[in-house]
Amino acid sequence: MTPPLRAARESVAGWGRMPVRPGRVARPERLRLPPGEGIVLPRGLGRAYGDAAVPAREDALVLATPRADRILDWDPVSGRLTAEAGLSLAEILRLFLPRGWFPPVTPGTKFVTLGGCVACDVHGKNHHCDGSFGGFVERLGLLTADGKEIACGPDLDRELFLATVGGMGLTGLITEVTLRLRPVETGWIAMETEGVANLEQMAAALEASREAWPYTVGWIDCLAAGAGLGRGVLMRGRHATRAEVPTGDPRPRRALGVPLDAPEWLLSPLAMRAFNGLYYWMKAGRRGGAARPHQSLVSYESFFYPLDMITDWNRLYGRRGFLQFQCVVPRAAGLAAMRELLERIARAGSASFLAVIKDCGPAGPAPLSFPMEGVTLGLDLPYRGPATVTLVHELNAVVIAAGGRIYLAKDAVTRAEDFAQMMPRLPEWRAVRDRWDPAHRFRSAQSVRLLGDRN
Ligand SMILES: Cc1cc2nc3c(=O)[nH]c(=O)nc-3n(C[C@H](O)[C@H](O)[C@H](O)COP(=O)(O)OP(=O)(O)OC[C@H]3O[C@@H](n4cnc5c(N)ncnc54)[C@H](O)[C@@H]3O)c2cc1C
Repeated sequence: MTPPLRAARESVAGWGRMPVRPGRVARPERLRLPPGEGIVLPRGLGRAYGDAAVPAREDALVLATPRADRILDWDPVSGRLTAEAGLSLAEILRLFLPRGWFPPVTPGTKFVTLGGCVACDVHGKNHHCDGSFGGFVERLGLLTADGKEIACGPDLDRELFLATVGGMGLTGLITEVTLRLRPVETGWIAMETEGVANLEQMAAALEASREAWPYTVGWIDCLAAGAGLGRGVLMRGRHATRAEVPTGDPRPRRALGVPLDAPEWLLSPLAMRAFNGLYYWMKAGRRGGAARPHQSLVSYESFFYPLDMITDWNRLYGRRGFLQFQCVVPRAAGLAAMRELLERIARAGSASFLAVIKDCGPAGPAPLSFPMEGVTLGLDLPYRGPATVTLVHELNAVVIAAGGRIYLAKDAVTRAEDFAQMMPRLPEWRAVRDRWDPAHRFRSAQSVRLLGDRN
């Protein structure tokens, strides 16, 4: 007989620390669904910002996967890796980068699990070239609501596979992932940075870098207004070859911690303005107009994971936490919509340290997957109560009018009716989920809010 899982009562939150809900959290070494359990929510390393990995209700079982992280199979010729869903990208990098392999797609933190990457269908700085994470997945092991373990993939139970990619853990518990890693010669990135004076220049620079650079991203000082609206720094990179680099791989960097919740004054418009101005000055080389591109070799960690250098950096936003806002809008609407979003945020005085802007390539086949051909903008909004929620609703209205959508891994407050307008393929996804989990046993605070699941 399967023994019951040991679960502890805990407060659970996403990376934005808002909202916080009680739940029963289990961290098993073997992923299974014990009989007699009701509502279940899979959870990885809790790096989704909002309420995607936050339980719907107190008696829900939160099944945290990070202890289930065994490597099950590895083919050093093709780079095909099969592992339990709790394995993190940090571990994959530690074990496989010295052997010349890199995750095919990585978000801006390596402290994410394979299961979380599939469930959010994460995208990286290479979306314009390579698409999202799901495109590199060959097989999933999935525990469905009736307790059966199913294998699915692009060529096997395809509908269920596609509903699980980007399906936010609502089709079942992903137990195993088979993924193709990318061969690289070194852990160094050949990087070019360029200061840009405004949004038009940023869009043009992103566009111009599409063909030649596999990784691109822009940082925007979202407090700059008027003629300087959208000023920032464009970074582009590619994996450096062995011939280009100093001897050896970059040394792993040690992270610094944030020991306390930051004080409110750190989030004052004045302090934010000072930080953003300093960042732009340091990175762009001079104030105002475009600086000449600057070339350097940097470690993959500083290129992909600058925020991982400060553990618990989410505490910088103080006790009240923060909301992330990330949307994507089609290219045609792109610039005007981005301008309106930035102007509204500046007007609301809802300062964010920096905003990130990126080019996205074509949407993948999964119905709930976030990226679509266009431009994506993401930023932090310190949580100041109802005013911040109202601002997100206003930003969402701009996104809907532009034909875009928001990213569920970042969301905590979007309204169900707004989400339905953003996702034309939602009914198709719902039909598959209802077939596999008619009682919505897999449920999160987010699915109660956005999909009308019972609480
Ligand atoms: C600093 C930072 C930068 C980021 N940058 C990016 C970025 O560039 N691109 C991007 O796409 N995202 C980005 N993210 C978001 C992050 O990559 C995703 O939210 C990721 O899915 C988190 O993985 P996790 O293992 O922590 O999952 P969690 O946050 O624990 O869970 C996320 C979702 O996945 C589900 N889930 C987790 N494990 C399983 C499983 N085994 N089976 C079924 N469902 C499961 C959960 O139910 C939940 O819905 C960033 C986050 C941070 C904190």
